[in-house]
Amino acid sequence: MAVDDTDSSEGMCTTYLLTEIIRRTGLDVIGFPRLVRLNPNIRYKTRGNGALNVELGKGSGQPTSIGQIDGKDVFSYKEGVFDGDREDLMSVVKDIVDEFSVVSDSNTNPGIVVSEGRPDDGLYRKALNEELSLDSVEKHLMKHGILYSKLKKGRGIIGAAASLSWPEERVTYESISYAYPHPEEGSRIQKIRAAEFADSFADTFNNMDYANQYPAIFPKARTPVIYGIRGTDPVNLSHVGNELNRKFLIEPERQLIFRTNQGTDDHIISEPDNIADLGSYSLTGRVSLDPWSIEGGHYFSLMDYHGTPIKIAAFEPTKEFRRIFSKLRRGDLITVKGSYVNSAINTEKLELVRKARYFSRIPPACRQCGSRMKTKGVNDFRCEKCGNRQRLPEYYEEPRDLEEKQYEVPVIARRHLSMPLKLERHFASGAGISGIGAEVN
Ligand code: ATP
Repeated sequence: MAVDDTDSSEGMCTTYLLTEIIRRTGLDVIGFPRLVRLNPNIRYKTRGNGALNVELGKGSGQPTSIGQIDGKDVFSYKEGVFDGDREDLMSVVKDIVDEFSVVSDSNTNPGIVVSEGRPDDGLYRKALNEELSLDSVEKHLMKHGILYSKLKKGRGIIGAAASLSWPEERVTYESISYAYPHPEEGSRIQKIRAAEFADSFADTFNNMDYANQYPAIFPKARTPVIYGIRGTDPVNLSHVGNELNRKFLIEPERQLIFRTNQGTDDHIISEPDNIADLGSYSLTGRVSLDPWSIEGGHYFSLMDYHGTPIKIAAFEPTKEFRRIFSKLRRGDLITVKGSYVNSAINTEKLELVRKARYFSRIPPACRQCGSRMKTKGVNDFRCEKCGNRQRLPEYYEEPRDLEEKQYEVPVIARRHLSMPLKLERHFASGAGISGIGAEVN
């Protein structure tokens, strides 16, 4: 069962709605509820373009608690079957969506999909890099006999269907706590302390931006979410959530761990033949123009990608990352990762693979007395002290204040899907891939 597009910038969060679906259906959760981020460049998105799905049924085997709803544990089962009626399930979910979604907002167009299996990953891949039409997704669902329901325009079926086809090649987790309809607003300093505390646990990521004093675990908008902590190990996350609640006297009404594609770089297509608007790519090439800036503090540069000039950008919200970006020089070999929007790659990560070397000609040191000579003409240098004459200049390598390594935008500007450098080793080691490693049940 999948659902999307129930919230607005004024309130609600589809992840909360999912907790309500679990509560009201009373069915067991098989595996984890899944929070799947899709194309970050979609104009319809409210915030982070996240869609939700969960496998519900009658679980078998040893259950594991993955959260609490109104003081009662939510159990996850490794296996299970759904022996109910799909139409009945759809009708319960429809009632909940009707009741909770912010349909008064013209940009809220809920969609629900009830499917027996998971479609192949084609839809997921497309939904990460393209803008899909409602019509094409509806046809896809009809063709495969998958039950769906639309409220208002029903655009949510796009995200809902795409989330079902997420193949979980790389996974992370998020523990989200709630107080409906809005939690009490804590003080800024308290939020910073809580985010720093969450950040002190290994295996968590994107909690806190120290340089910009931004506590990223708290939502920017008013929603039922108190905080969300991201990590690679669900058992550890559940521990971090409990500790945070205890230390900061937070009493969530609900708390649930979601399996997600956040921090996986799933949106990035490596070295593509073609670059299309709204797609996200990793491109390697040489910088062909030194960076320049425009009013508002936005920086741009040009790179050559297989003979095509591509504009790359570091916009104002990327804060201190712009200092790194501005130090690029023509000839640098770089790999840039980011989305292609408004004819520029919005840089998320930058690797300086090989830096260009720049040399300046200077008058040589005198071979006889060692003092610096004076230029008298082209390839004509004289020593004012001893009168010695030399023809060849010296070359001096200009220092470059940039290392050959990877750089990333700060947490405050980081996209949900972007893999933090901190996680690269985790995924490279094979952990978090196809659900290996960080399994709770
Ligand atoms: P939140 O993060 O608060 O849950 P959101 O940012 O996920 O909100 P939604 O309210 O869910 O935003 O709206 C996103 C809309 O865009 C949904 O209707 C979803 O179906 C649709 N959508 C998602 N991906 C695509 C895509 N690739 N092409 C076209 N539509 C898409």
